[in-house]
Amino acid sequence: MQNLSAPKIGRSLAAFIPMILLSLFAAMQAVSQTDMQMNIATAITVIYVLTLFFLIIHKKKTDTYRSMLFISIAVAFPLGFTLRVFEGRGRFMVLTFEDMLIQNAEFCHIGITQNILPLVLRNEVFFPIEAGDVIFTLMVVIGLGLMIGRGWCAWGCFWGGWEEGFSQIRKKAVIKKIPPKLRFLPFAVLLVTALVSARLFTSFYCFWLCPFKTVSEFVEIRTNVVMIQTILFLALFLGLVIVLPILTKKRTQCTFLCPFGAFMSLFHKINPFEIRIDPAKCNHCQHCIRICPVLAITPETLEKGTTTISCIRCARCIDTCPTGAISYHIRGTKLFVKPELKRILFLYPALFAALFIGVPAIQQCLYRIALFLSTGSFIR
Ligand code: SF4
Ligand code: SF4
Ligand code: SF4
Repeated sequence: MQNLSAPKIGRSLAAFIPMILLSLFAAMQAVSQTDMQMNIATAITVIYVLTLFFLIIHKKKTDTYRSMLFISIAVAFPLGFTLRVFEGRGRFMVLTFEDMLIQNAEFCHIGITQNILPLVLRNEVFFPIEAGDVIFTLMVVIGLGLMIGRGWCAWGCFWGGWEEGFSQIRKKAVIKKIPPKLRFLPFAVLLVTALVSARLFTSFYCFWLCPFKTVSEFVEIRTNVVMIQTILFLALFLGLVIVLPILTKKRTQCTFLCPFGAFMSLFHKINPFEIRIDPAKCNHCQHCIRICPVLAITPETLEKGTTTISCIRCARCIDTCPTGAISYHIRGTKLFVKPELKRILFLYPALFAALFIGVPAIQQCLYRIALFLSTGSFIR
């Protein structure tokens, strides 16, 4: 195991103070003179997030508390999202053809990958995104990719926590052997959906493959084609987000399908942080290979002391390696020197990603609950 001796409280607090400032800065963006429920929701959210980050620092257990936050974000997201949409449209989760005609729809980061080619080649984008949305979202994701690589998928995303939660239900995996080459599937999905979407000028992935329509919004079933699409996304949600994560203890949708995860993997080498394995400490037990939720360590990368480009920087391998051989590393610095300092330095941009991408889902969910408790209604 990683060095479990807890650091002195003073040292933990010193590392923690910049996080308090960053969180207060994020909270200030949501403070309202008139909306008491929103202020209460924001205050509880900040306290919750800061408590988890303090525990991450002080207990030196990155993945345990990160995972709690990540799952909270995913569970909170649907309530806040669907009620906000209901407030605007007066309908719950159902997206009508009329909504689509007037672009009255939401978009998420996953759909962005289909619009990059049309934007670059034709200076045009398609439903449900506008060019400004694509450019702004791309700037955000590229910025985060340059800071923490595919860390988005362990710290920020408001979808991945669903399968992370289901993957933790069983103590032991039922399906233990998964061909490691399957981890290349999302890259194929990224390429195929980007090309098909650009050719057909439509959001191919969003309409046909996205499992998360199950917990956000979906097109009303008026045609047989939409019926097939609905069966497909429900089956993908059931299979890749619920059943297979339970049976394999892996994040199977993130590992085998999501094109956005593949896109963020492209930043694996062009960000300062990576996960390294110290060959002098490693006893080759292969526990890290078994425990990694996205198949990011293979016997080959273990020999080289690195991970594959699928690594999401979740730190599960770091927390559970029996010899403490794995650590966060900053490129260009001496290997395996001051690993705790490097971990803390990674946590700042990770908190940034969490605060500005995923955590607002918790705030929005708490806001609806506060609204319900004070007015008897979830909507204004
Ligand atoms: S792989 Fe996709 S769904 Fe999974 S965490 Fe990353 S962006 Fe989210
Ligand atoms: S890095 Fe740790 S968990 Fe992985 S094989 Fe070596 S000792 Fe085992
Ligand atoms: S290699 Fe380690 S840090 Fe990377 S995804 Fe796997 S368990 Fe998480």
